[in-house]
Amino acid sequence: MPKGQASRTDGDARWDARARFEAMPQYQQVSLIRQMGDALQVESPFFRVHEGAAGATTRIGGREYINFANYNYLGLSSDPTVVDQAKAAIDRYGVSASASRMVAGERPIQRDLERALADLYGTEDCVAFVSGHATNVTVIGALFGPGDLIVHDALAHNSVVQGAQLSGAKRLSFAHNDWRELDALLARTRGDYRNVLVVIEGLYSMDGDLPDLARFVDIRARHGVFLMVDEAHSLGVLGERGLGIREHSGVASDDVDLWMGTMSKTLAGCGGFIAGCQPLVDMLRHLAPGFLYSVGLAPALAAGSLAALTRMLAEPQRVAMLQARGRQFLREARAAGFDTGSSAGYAVVPIMTRSSLKAAQWANALFEEGINVQPIFYPAVEERAARLRFFICAMHEPAQITRTIETLARIAKR
Ligand code: PMP
Repeated sequence: MPKGQASRTDGDARWDARARFEAMPQYQQVSLIRQMGDALQVESPFFRVHEGAAGATTRIGGREYINFANYNYLGLSSDPTVVDQAKAAIDRYGVSASASRMVAGERPIQRDLERALADLYGTEDCVAFVSGHATNVTVIGALFGPGDLIVHDALAHNSVVQGAQLSGAKRLSFAHNDWRELDALLARTRGDYRNVLVVIEGLYSMDGDLPDLARFVDIRARHGVFLMVDEAHSLGVLGERGLGIREHSGVASDDVDLWMGTMSKTLAGCGGFIAGCQPLVDMLRHLAPGFLYSVGLAPALAAGSLAALTRMLAEPQRVAMLQARGRQFLREARAAGFDTGSSAGYAVVPIMTRSSLKAAQWANALFEEGINVQPIFYPAVEERAARLRFFICAMHEPAQITRTIETLARIAKR
C-alpha cells in the first residue's frame, strides 16, 4: 500500500497513524531538512546539547566554544543577582504558578515585573504572558478579526504571521522596512477595513537591521491605524540605556499602540509582554486566550526578569559594551570582505554565504575550530539568503570576535 493510504482494511483493522504522519507534507519538510544535512555531509547543527549556562562561551561535548548562538544579549541570564532573585522567588512561591492568574490569583512579583515594564515604556500598564511567541499569536487574535486588516513587514517573525492568519483578519505584507510601500498600500485599502494593525520589529533578527520608526509613526497618524512594535531583539540592545527603539529613534511612548517584547532575550527569562494604554491591557487580561486560559508566568521567571531589568537600568555600560562589540564585529567582518547584508551592527550580524552548502560547511568548520554559530539555509530561507547568523553579546571579548573573523576568513579562502 502506498505510504499514507488508509490502512484500515477488512483483514487489518489497524489504523496506521504512523504512516499517515509520514505522508503529511509537514513531515516531508522535516525529512528535507535532514536530507539537506546528509547531502551537505555535515553534522546537524540543531539541538546541540550545551552542558552549562551559555553566554559568550558555552560547553558542548566537554569542549569550550566561543558562542554566537543565543540571545543572552547583556549576559544577565547567569548574573549572580538575577539568579539569586529567581531562587528567592522559588523559595517563597514555589516553582509554578500552577494555574491561570485569574483562577490561581496573582503573585506580587508578576505585577512588579509588569509595572516595571510599563514604567520602562512610559505606558499606563503592561501584561505578561508565558511565551513570547504565544503573546503575538494570542494578542493579535484577541483584538482583530474578520473585517480588519493586519499588515506586517515581509520579514515579520512567525508568531506575527501566525497570529494574523489565525485571527481571521485580512493579512498583507510590505517589502522589508519599506514604509513607502506601506503608505501606498494603506492609501489604497484603509477605507475597506474597520480596524487596521501594522506590525514591525525594533530590530530584525535575521538581518540585524531596523525600521525608520518615525516614518511608521507618521503613517500611523495619517492613516488612523494601530501600530505594534515587537521589541524582542531591540530591548536592551538599542538606545543609550537599552530602552529599545523608542529611545534610539526618539519617538514618544504613545506614538506606538502596542509595545511588545519578550523576556527570553535581554531579560534572562521566558515569556512575552504587551505595554500600552489601560483599556488595551484590561482587554488582554480579560479576553486574550493565551493569558486567560494559560498558566501565569512562573514566579522565578518573573523575579529573574525583573532583576535583569533592574541590572540593565543600573548598568548602562553593559548596553554600551554590547553596542561596541556589535560595531566591532560588523567592522571586522566587512574589512575581511564578508557580505553582512543590511545589518546595522547591533547584536545581530549575518554573514551572507548565499549558498546553503557554504553556510553548512563554514559553520561546521568553525565548530571544529571551537566557534559555535548557526547556519541558516534552505528551506528555512531562500537559497540566495543562506547565511551564518551571529548573535553578539556584551560579554564577548574583543579578541574572541577578532579570532572568529580571522578563522572564518581562513576557512572561506580554502
Ligand atoms: N518575536 C520575535 C521578533 C522573535 O524573534 C521571537 C523569538 N526569538 C519571538 C517573538 C518569540 O519569543 P520567545 O522565543 O520568547 O517565545
